Amino acid sequence: MRKIDKIILHCSATKEGQDFKVADIDKWHKAQGWAGIGYHYVIYLDGTIHEGRNENEIGAHVQGHNSNSIGVCYIGGVDAKGNPKDTRTDVQKVALIALVEELKEKYPNATIHGHNEFAAKACPSFDVRKEFRQ
Ligand SMILES: [Zn+2]
Repeated sequence: MRKIDKIILHCSATKEGQDFKVADIDKWHKAQGWAGIGYHYVIYLDGTIHEGRNENEIGAHVQGHNSNSIGVCYIGGVDAKGNPKDTRTDVQKVALIALVEELKEKYPNATIHGHNEFAAKACPSFDVRKEFRQ
């Protein structure tokens, strides 16, 4: 198993209310020249959790920290004009907490972060440190 010390949260940077699936992200990331979807988990608008890249494989979601992290992405993250916005639905919020808890059980030494802690980006469009204070 890989040594995991970070769980990093993302948004798909797609507009509020627009429904996208693992297959869509897989297509976008392949178009970037990657091996396929870079996230390990994706949380849909309906709160369901879907597997992307296998957890045992190194993801492609955060420069410099991929080898020791798990990438989780919720669908949404920008408003109709494309500006950063916390668009999470109530069920997405619940699913995110549940998934992070599950991952924390599996990787007790892992800390929770937003992509914006490692890059000059708005992603995931909410304050991870505030919500997942450790
Ligand atoms: Zn991100």
